[in-house]
Amino acid sequence: MKPDPRLLTLAALGALLVSSAFAAPTISRLTPPSGLFSYGDPNPPIVARFLPGQRFDLQATLQPDPGQTIVGVRFLVNGVDVAGPITVVRATVAGLPANTVVASLRAYSHLPPGIHRLTVTTAQLPDGQSKVATGNFEVVALGNAAGAKIKNIIFMIGDGMGIAHRTAARFVAHGVSQGKALAPLAMDTFPITGLVQTTSLNSIVTDSAPGASCYSTGNKNNNNQEGVFPDDTADVFDNPRTEYLGQYLARTQGKSLGIVTTADVFDAAPAAWAVHTANRGAGTGICDQYLDEAARTSNLTVLLGGGRKWFLPSTTAGSARANASDYVLPAELATGWGVPAGTLDPARDLLAGFQTAGFAYAANNTRLRATAAGATKLLGLFALSNMNVALDKIDGRRGNASVVNDYGFPDPPMLDEMTDAALTVLDKNPNGFVVMIEAASIDKQAHAMDTDRWILETLEFDRAIARAKAFAAANPDTLVVITADHECAGVDIIGASVVSNASLAARVTNPASGVAGLRDQVVGVYEAAGFPNYNILADGYPSTTNPDRKMLIGYAGNSDRYENWFSNTRPLRDSQQPFNGSAPLNTYPSDPTRRDTAGGFFIAGQVPGSSAVHTASDIPLSAYGRGAVAFTGTYDNTDVFFKMMAGVLVGTTTTVSKR
Ligand SMILES: [Zn+2]
Repeated sequence: MKPDPRLLTLAALGALLVSSAFAAPTISRLTPPSGLFSYGDPNPPIVARFLPGQRFDLQATLQPDPGQTIVGVRFLVNGVDVAGPITVVRATVAGLPANTVVASLRAYSHLPPGIHRLTVTTAQLPDGQSKVATGNFEVVALGNAAGAKIKNIIFMIGDGMGIAHRTAARFVAHGVSQGKALAPLAMDTFPITGLVQTTSLNSIVTDSAPGASCYSTGNKNNNNQEGVFPDDTADVFDNPRTEYLGQYLARTQGKSLGIVTTADVFDAAPAAWAVHTANRGAGTGICDQYLDEAARTSNLTVLLGGGRKWFLPSTTAGSARANASDYVLPAELATGWGVPAGTLDPARDLLAGFQTAGFAYAANNTRLRATAAGATKLLGLFALSNMNVALDKIDGRRGNASVVNDYGFPDPPMLDEMTDAALTVLDKNPNGFVVMIEAASIDKQAHAMDTDRWILETLEFDRAIARAKAFAAANPDTLVVITADHECAGVDIIGASVVSNASLAARVTNPASGVAGLRDQVVGVYEAAGFPNYNILADGYPSTTNPDRKMLIGYAGNSDRYENWFSNTRPLRDSQQPFNGSAPLNTYPSDPTRRDTAGGFFIAGQVPGSSAVHTASDIPLSAYGRGAVAFTGTYDNTDVFFKMMAGVLVGTTTTVSKR
């Protein structure tokens, strides 16, 4: 049996005891992270992998003995000193010894493929003791492959979308008869499907920040962090960066970047394609960085979603801009990466800033339709925070606009319309583009265990996928990838109601229904479930989400809730919305234990809190178009980045590292 590499051998323990007798600095962190550094195994899986020439920061945390001070930090790759300024700052997280410092060398890159040894050396004064630590990273060999080159990437994230979300959407959209689906979803028609492992750098269960940035950096990040590795300073915008896919392709090939989401644009999945931060919640800084770095690194050309609250000056009603969520980069980081340092400016009019930078602005669907064809850059902000979800948007279009009116945005686009607008603008760049398109509220409504809302979100996503597929069919140098960042809520289809809608409605209004009336007499399992049938209207959505014998969903990652199987007339209150503390939004139920209490039966959660959670299950990925064949099999989420880039970099062995 191979010994656990993390256990010290007796000899190593002896050496450690001897060395500690002669005090020396301690090196507690070396970035990029590696198993070679963390537990000394020379043959662990390589943690950090990069494209040839892809930029990333080198960093180490160095702890001197009491009364000593760190001096003389050097970084070496394969034994050769890395050129460039090394900045040493005080470590500011709690619990570290006095005089602990963080040393950084910014925007390093390495061209030759292979596994490279990263060494940091340091000494302390006045006693002159020194220390060396070694880790490794890999530069992945790409560019030699033959074949046709990918020009455009359409990367589509159904946030939280596991296998069951897809299955449920198919049942609702197309139905099943005599054991067969009557038609496939658009995503079902993609020729290649794989399974993706979603673990993050610091947990088996990821959140959306590292769950999305893995696809755009090729690397693992900690939960709540995107485009950065963890560090030992409290500043959330100074962490060691990794260059994003869009930034790399803007710099080396002149491609454009598009970001489209139904969430607030500061949310984790969109920000994980252009913004580097250890705090996915720092909305003012995140939205500022979109614009501040658009011209210098990302070539951000299209930004569509919600989140207007970050773009309005703090003096405007509905603004959420604040110093506490803003950013200022250390000068050495800004200089190293060639980006503006940012400034604390809650009064900034970011909306005007985008327009000054050449972005056409659309505030609603009518403007979006009128603007896209003539725009070379496009900003669309269709809500103060997260956009209303498909069920409520469609209700609005059908004349029952109470929810979208309550939120004050009665004319929002659907995701397929946003997709069309984004592709229209991005396709104007002859060098090609990368666009991330996210159906964000599959996740948000699964957290809320609001079954019909996440099912319709998945239908909305599938309609956007059909638009992307049509684009790729007409532009065969395009790759379309459909996946998620993680599964949300442990969703699954448990059966169907055995009663009519009228019977269900009567039970829901009867306060005595409870477990007997709404579980034991309603839930049909196995053959009692039969084949639920939904009537789809010309707009692509069901005429009602409460048909007779409706499909029923269970949750494995659930918090406490009441369940009555009936569609919720209103969504849960969205804590991120301005004005949610006043009428009418403050009348919306605040969590799943305050919804369906009359008549519904109580289901005890397996997790604390008031929200269902992400799970660690593998997630499906489907691919269509040029390079799609690479995505068959089972693989790590970071592999997706390298599979995409292998197709983009075909025949580019001389990729240069230029600004
Ligand atoms: Zn989530």
